[in-house]
Amino acid sequence: TKEFPNDLEIARRSKLRPLPEVAGTMGIGPHLLEPYGDAVAKVKLEAIEELSDRPRAKYVVVSAITPTPLGEGKTTTTVGLGQAFSHLGKTATVAVRQPAMGPTFGIKGGAAGGGYSQVVPMEMLNLHLTGDTHAVTSAHNLLSAMIDNHVHQNDDFFHVDRHSITWRRVLDVNDRALRNIIVGLGPRTDGIPRETGFDITAASEVMAILALSTSLRDLRERLGRIVIGNTVDGEPITAEDLKAAGAMAVMLKEAIKPNLMQTLENTPVLVHAGPFGNIATGNSSIVADRIGIRGGDYLITEAGFGADMGAERFFNIKCRYSGLKADAAVLVATVRALKAHSGRFEVVAGRPLPPELLEENPDDVFAGADNLRKQIENIRLHGVSPVVAINAFPTDHDSEHAAIREIAEETGARVAVANHFSEGGAGATDLAEAVAEASEEPTEFGFLYPEEASLREKIETIATKVYGADGVAYDMKASQQLDSYEKNGFGNLPVCMAKTHLSISSDPTLLGAPKGWTLPVREVRASVGAGFIYPLCGEMRTMPGLSATPAATRIDIDENGEIVGLS
Ligand code: ADP
Ligand code: MG
Repeated sequence: TKEFPNDLEIARRSKLRPLPEVAGTMGIGPHLLEPYGDAVAKVKLEAIEELSDRPRAKYVVVSAITPTPLGEGKTTTTVGLGQAFSHLGKTATVAVRQPAMGPTFGIKGGAAGGGYSQVVPMEMLNLHLTGDTHAVTSAHNLLSAMIDNHVHQNDDFFHVDRHSITWRRVLDVNDRALRNIIVGLGPRTDGIPRETGFDITAASEVMAILALSTSLRDLRERLGRIVIGNTVDGEPITAEDLKAAGAMAVMLKEAIKPNLMQTLENTPVLVHAGPFGNIATGNSSIVADRIGIRGGDYLITEAGFGADMGAERFFNIKCRYSGLKADAAVLVATVRALKAHSGRFEVVAGRPLPPELLEENPDDVFAGADNLRKQIENIRLHGVSPVVAINAFPTDHDSEHAAIREIAEETGARVAVANHFSEGGAGATDLAEAVAEASEEPTEFGFLYPEEASLREKIETIATKVYGADGVAYDMKASQQLDSYEKNGFGNLPVCMAKTHLSISSDPTLLGAPKGWTLPVREVRASVGAGFIYPLCGEMRTMPGLSATPAATRIDIDENGEIVGLS
């Protein structure tokens, strides 16, 4: 293959359109924009009301088969599909999460898409953008400070059981040394010592609240419902009880407004919120989608990880709270991931792909087919039409694309090869046509479980129907926690399963579509403010560490003041 320019080179050569014009294509007037420099603007929430008589866009979620640790191109495909619609004479809006900065300086590099399908300027997207993440960090840590202060002041209005406090601190830096800490060391005036720790900001419940709130009012109420621990009598203590929620909402007043950017081909992009994909929903914000749904013919949004993870939460948590219904779902599939699901190769983050995986071999693709079949079924469980997007890599062979096509067509799903990475939107028009057809089909969108089902019923439904488990085994602790959540009135919340994204099962080493296994639930936690219960099915890291050679060591400013090494 000939020299392909790197992402940053392509991004720097792009010609940005003035943002008011980009907004204008969505029906958003300049009075609804708050510019942050030339290339980013916040959109006022009044846009929801002002745009409400415009026609509703088709709502398309982009998900994937179970990815390798390298990612299979959901963001790239979301952007590429958005760009492709303009080649068909249609308008589209793209909605994505804001990447966390921690991983940008860790192993990941940027998260703005890639090749000729990117959100620009990628430096802004990948770094501070408009500071929403910092606002989330501050609001979260204000509550932490108020909890420790409450303990220190020994307020006799109610007594916090110090050992029950689950609210930690957050920071958007990968810093393993902060995972477990002791606060309150020193003299009496420096607080009461207790063990706690830091999570990455993306794992903050405040981030999940930002993503799931439907309005500023709703944000304020959800913040008040955050449960931080118990009183000595075992009663839940909320952020409202601590009188912290109002101040937290004030700190998030700007962060609740979505950020408008554009793609390399000037498609509007709403970037908003970045909740974790394993212990939280891994989806961008509801307010962004409430604006984007009136922005044109299609609203295309990405859901993190495989269809068993991000898409399941998109349907059962995000759509439940937003009231929006999906019209179609894209499942990104790659030759490399299907080959990895054959179990014949080992794909490790930070290492080059095994050379044998790159050799032409459609049989290896067929050997990984079960995963694609199951993820197609996982979309259909919600009554939505799946479209398989074969995200073409330069190292693929036509026979391997044909293999994926055959597997998809056997299930009756639509399928298209997409070359948006190397060709931009023009390379994904087949995909856009397939998505357009799928979204015209009558859908019978429905949730997997009703809100009145018990927490155990919800967990068992997801485990057996989506993950293909035989059943669920609860540790004693998990059982007790479920009983106490039901007793405290949280039983009507949806569940967000915290499990590995590297397998449909809870064991990251099991590939394909594992059968004959039981889902272990070790512990159950509650994000009552965000509005979900999350059972832990395995070890979940909520504060990443850095590798021996972090991406940060390659990132710098050159003599012209330009960033180097970001991708
Ligand atoms: P996800 O959103 O699923 O994690 P991304 O879209 O971020 O995946 O893509 C993961 C990585 O793979 C990025 O570095 C991206 O540039 C690269 N990538 C995605 N699609 C292609 C493709 N078709 N060809 C080459 N590289 C690609
Ligand atoms: Mg992504």
